Amino acid sequence: MSTPIIEIKNVRKVYRMGDEKIVALDDMSLTIEPEEVCCLLGTSGSGKSTLLNMMAGLEKPTRGEVIIKKRHIEKMNEKQLAKFRQDNVGFVFQSYNLLATLTALENVSLPLIFKGIPRKVRERRATEMLEAVGLKDRLSHKPSQMSGGQQQRVSIARAFISNPEIVFADEPTGNLDTKTTFEVMDLITSMAKQHNQTLIIVTHDTEISGYADRTVHIRDGNIEKIIENKGVKMQGNQVESLV
Ligand code: ADP
Ligand code: MG
Repeated sequence: MSTPIIEIKNVRKVYRMGDEKIVALDDMSLTIEPEEVCCLLGTSGSGKSTLLNMMAGLEKPTRGEVIIKKRHIEKMNEKQLAKFRQDNVGFVFQSYNLLATLTALENVSLPLIFKGIPRKVRERRATEMLEAVGLKDRLSHKPSQMSGGQQQRVSIARAFISNPEIVFADEPTGNLDTKTTFEVMDLITSMAKQHNQTLIIVTHDTEISGYADRTVHIRDGNIEKIIENKGVKMQGNQVESLV
């Protein structure tokens, strides 16, 4: 067995709102293998985003350990975390989180600016990424000039451009119609498989979990069960040939 890329040990997260305590994560332990596509499935408010944010170093646990690539990220300070995220992770969000004033090409180039990569190289790589997600004729479009599906493709290109080992996606198809959902899921999972990346997808949609190697069912801040998906992977473009 390989060394896990992510280890969550007895993680608890409590938010305090005035006098009220909200237990977002009760006591969670989970390991994720390198190159795994893992789905975190649960209803709204079950703690999925909190868990994802914890694994991405965006939030600190109240208690417990978060070990990524053998490093304890719960012990890092903000500066170390920022560097860690820059070097290791990519993000895809439900609301795309593109910068409205920038073109598709500029949005996708952004992570490379922070890495100090020269402009010419950035533009070439961003162009290649946008071609790979099927948007080579939208390089100069701003987010408002693109459909939701196209904006999500731009955000996928941005998440993958620095070839991160781990990509986190929080409800990546939450704002998309069914057809676009399958297209976006096909794209994001095939990109991760192609480059041997670990992909963690948060969703409340059981159909999405068909894309994963494993589905972690989350309920009330705990893991309810973990299901291995050994069957045929559901892919939107294969649905017809299966029926
Ligand atoms: P999910 O992503 O599964 O919908 P979340 O992880 O966002 O759920 O939230 C889990 C619980 O924690 C919810 O009850 C939510 O209201 C609460 N929560 C999440 N973030 C915060 C926060 N920043 N402050 C207070 N409560 C929060
Ligand atoms: Mg959420």
